[in-house]
Amino acid sequence: MVKNLRVGIIGGGAAGFFSALSVKEHFPNAEVTIYEKSNKLLAKVKISGGGRCNVTNGRLDNKELVQNYPRGEKLLRKGFEQFNAKSTLDWFSKRGVELVTYPDNNFCVFPKSNDSQTIIDCFLRDAKRLNIEIQMQTTISQISKKDDGTFGFLANNRPVVADKIIIATGGSPKLEGMAWLQELGCEVVEPLPSLFTFNMPQESIREFMGVSVDYVHVRIESTKLSAKGSLLVTHWGMSGPAILKLSAWGARILADKNYDFAILVNWLGEVKEEELRIKLRETAEQHGSKLMVNLNPFQFPNRLWHFFIEKAGISLQCRWKELGSKTSNKLINLLVNDRYVVSGKTTFKEEFVTTGGIALNQINFQTMESKAVEGLFFAGEVMDIDGITGGFNFQAAWTTAWIAGKSVGIKNREI
Ligand SMILES: Cc1cc2nc3c(=O)[nH]c(=O)nc-3n(C[C@H](O)[C@H](O)[C@H](O)COP(=O)(O)OP(=O)(O)OC[C@H]3O[C@@H](n4cnc5c(N)ncnc54)[C@H](O)[C@@H]3O)c2cc1C
Repeated sequence: MVKNLRVGIIGGGAAGFFSALSVKEHFPNAEVTIYEKSNKLLAKVKISGGGRCNVTNGRLDNKELVQNYPRGEKLLRKGFEQFNAKSTLDWFSKRGVELVTYPDNNFCVFPKSNDSQTIIDCFLRDAKRLNIEIQMQTTISQISKKDDGTFGFLANNRPVVADKIIIATGGSPKLEGMAWLQELGCEVVEPLPSLFTFNMPQESIREFMGVSVDYVHVRIESTKLSAKGSLLVTHWGMSGPAILKLSAWGARILADKNYDFAILVNWLGEVKEEELRIKLRETAEQHGSKLMVNLNPFQFPNRLWHFFIEKAGISLQCRWKELGSKTSNKLINLLVNDRYVVSGKTTFKEEFVTTGGIALNQINFQTMESKAVEGLFFAGEVMDIDGITGGFNFQAAWTTAWIAGKSVGIKNREI
């Protein structure tokens, strides 16, 4: 008698569920079990996007989409040929989940309900319908490959045999957390945090927490790293898309600097010094008798404008016509090249993704199968893939999970 394909999926998060559903879609007779160490399924989906779950990004052109991954771009370029953002929209639509793209919010896509539970309910409903077994509070900490090509492991002290394994255990903040995968023969890139806010204990700008500027250009001093977007002043320092992007693209460089570095902010985005000089001169000509603090020509939040004036050493009693060339130069330099010192790393962040994980040179990009261990597949953040904010991390999870699920039955005895 031909035996059904037995697939063990380690991890009950986004990638674990999506790969389980993909296995059943492609190989309906497969016996699929998800092993989840905690007592919660899809915990990160629940809290994602501030409880709304930013499921993907509405940039449907693959070439544009891959540009949002500091690590994993090459793998995803291949992966998106099989399952991309459009596939995600179709996948959810087929299951009756309405999604909405917000072009004015970086093309983020959220469920119409604005509730991540909608996504969770969809996965749980489908998993039940397809008879996917789920074992919670079951940590898998050792897997061995047997001579007959199958895998053996203990699930709650009970020995289990599986034909194929999909590892979907997410990011591990520490290398030790991946030791069991190294023992199995996988190469691991050291994990590091990505998508974190900048900690600025010495900077008084923190007093203006909650203030944001829509479009700034931030550079990291002595590097080629720079990012544009909005910036939010926080209790700890700075956050917002421009900062989070820098933390992602610079994840390794900033870790090497032990998170001690300086940033230079152009508070006016792409405005150059010369344009700014003209703007200041025009303002002085047109509104010379007005106090500088009361006439803010740049639409900065007023509190921030006060801060800049004081930081440039300008008296709060100074009128526009009294702005001399020396102070004007100081203000110009401050607005386009404002320096802040970042020291150490805070763990108080809105979104956290781990760089590092299973080395991509170990993975077949067409199937997500390990090149070192036949029959072992990967999906999601456990790999050295990560995106910036905007739904890109979930998209990477859906793509890799769908491909892994589709590929587990290839070369197998039963399909
Ligand atoms: C606060 C927050 C908000 C976010 N918001 C968004 C967003 O809106 N959009 C977006 O694209 N991305 C977002 N992300 C990132 C996104 O959540 C992750 O990239 C995504 O969840 C990765 O999915 P995963 O399945 O690979 O890993 P995870 O979601 O981390 O799931 C891994 C699962 O495996 C289990 N596990 C681990 N080890 C074992 C083991 N040995 N045995 C059994 N089970 C194990 C874990 O308990 C966990 O349930 C957010 C992240 C955070 C922290």
